[in-house]
Amino acid sequence: MVTAAISRGSAESPTRARVLVVGGGYVGMYTALHLQRQLGDELRSGAVEVVVVSPDPYMTYQPFLPEAAAGNISPRHVVVPLRRVLDRCRIVIGEVESLDHAKRTATVRTLASEEEAAGPLELTYDELVLAPGSVSRTLPVPGLADHGIGFKTVEEAIGLRNHVIEQMDIASSTRDPAIRDAALTFVFVGGGYAGVEALGELEDMARYTARYYHNVKAEDLKWVLVEASDRILPEVGEEMGRYTVRELRARNIDVRLGTRLESCVDRVAVLSDGSRFPTRTVVWTAGVKPAPVLAATGLPLNERGRLRCTAHLTVEGVEHAWAAGDAAAVPDVTAKAAGADCAPNAQHAVRQAKVLAENLVASLQGRPLQEYAHRYVGSVASLGLHKGVAHVYGRKLKGYPAWFMHRAYHLSRVPTFNRKARVLAEWTLAGLFKREIVSLGSLEHPRAEFALAAGPPPPPADMAVTSDSSPDAHDTGDDGDGRGGGDLGGPGRTGPNDPTND
Ligand SMILES: Cc1cc2nc3c(=O)[nH]c(=O)nc-3n(C[C@H](O)[C@H](O)[C@H](O)COP(=O)(O)OP(=O)(O)OC[C@H]3O[C@@H](n4cnc5c(N)ncnc54)[C@H](O)[C@@H]3O)c2cc1C
Repeated sequence: MVTAAISRGSAESPTRARVLVVGGGYVGMYTALHLQRQLGDELRSGAVEVVVVSPDPYMTYQPFLPEAAAGNISPRHVVVPLRRVLDRCRIVIGEVESLDHAKRTATVRTLASEEEAAGPLELTYDELVLAPGSVSRTLPVPGLADHGIGFKTVEEAIGLRNHVIEQMDIASSTRDPAIRDAALTFVFVGGGYAGVEALGELEDMARYTARYYHNVKAEDLKWVLVEASDRILPEVGEEMGRYTVRELRARNIDVRLGTRLESCVDRVAVLSDGSRFPTRTVVWTAGVKPAPVLAATGLPLNERGRLRCTAHLTVEGVEHAWAAGDAAAVPDVTAKAAGADCAPNAQHAVRQAKVLAENLVASLQGRPLQEYAHRYVGSVASLGLHKGVAHVYGRKLKGYPAWFMHRAYHLSRVPTFNRKARVLAEWTLAGLFKREIVSLGSLEHPRAEFALAAGPPPPPADMAVTSDSSPDAHDTGDDGDGRGGGDLGGPGRTGPNDPTND
């Protein structure tokens, strides 16, 4: 029992201690889960309360996004429901907008904030855990904001799957060779694991899907990987990175090293080597930057915008504030070079969450804190069905063994027995039956059919002639049925946070 030590008030009237966890991803969910286990009695008695604020009611297992995009795993099995896993915590669906740590207050915008006249919620806390992760790091490339799409969320992964198959449908039905070429050209920017795995899985899925088209062959599809440095997949080491380049090129994927995307205005990807690719698909996976909310916390940040942390996972020089994961610059005490920070990856995030929760409980109980120390053990990556690359504990694997290791590793890592069983069942069934090859992009616009049936309201008599010729009717890229044309990345392209769209 730690109630006496964690009580903020006197022994006669102990005040309840509230731990606020910002973010429900790897660090947020695992920290709350460990706290829930270690503070079971206190949570039951009400001496402690753990509040998790997350924009989504689920944690996303991001390493499974490429497999979700390929259709090997259903979208709802790559996410873990926070309310079920954290059943003794309070879950608030919303976004922390700012913090006043001196007053121990967080301003939270919830789904209801828009409708309520009262404005955002004010949440007070005693201990703060900051785990808002990262967002795509973009550069001011002309046209990117209009035409690009990231690959960090389940909505983006499923949106991209639907989009790729939709492009094959467009190519199959158009009579215009220029439209066909643009539809069948897919440009990925960034050669880290997110970009390489997404490209590898989607190319593999599209190659298979092409078997069912009478006039689209796998060779007609053009896949381009653009990487600014001279190597890809740094996570698996130099040798395995070189192998990956050879493997992708052998699949006719155009890998361009030392090259940057300069522009994608008017759906033409222009590269720094002068080449131009008319395309409707630009996937941006060129790194991440810390979540924007950190700038509104008043807490110390390093030059990259990550929270300055100690090896104990406290925020440097700030009491009762803890952080870990992509948002935190945690010193890597195992590194040979002094001053190195832990890389932003799941391997660190999961382990840091455990140490953070243990330290938080230790501090509440007045015990000493432990340092976070983990030596990076390497990485596994899938490059499509039965294809992979791995470099783990010094062992290098390629092809089928690496792919098998990737699956075994992630199956052991995905949270909850429930999710493990479902993912394993899906993989087993996929081995027995053929792959799914349809685009259900229309799920992203569930009202389109009904809106069409209900028809537009009759225009006023004096508008009847002019309405059709208004410029708005022509320049949106929308077909008029509300389903969008072939472009992606525009507002409203993906459904409102519904990971079940598939
Ligand atoms: C496609 C892909 C594949 C990957 N594969 C691997 C892999 O194979 N191996 C590996 O080690 N790593 C991998 N990673 C990286 C890994 O997923 C991240 O390093 C890890 O998720 C970081 O955990 P986190 O808790 O810091 O952030 P996240 O897991 O991203 O969680 C952050 C959470 O905070 C929420 N949030 C953001 N802002 C706010 C706010 N203002 N208020 C409240 N909540 C907020 C977010 O919505 C999110 O739920 C991959 C990443 C991607 C995108």
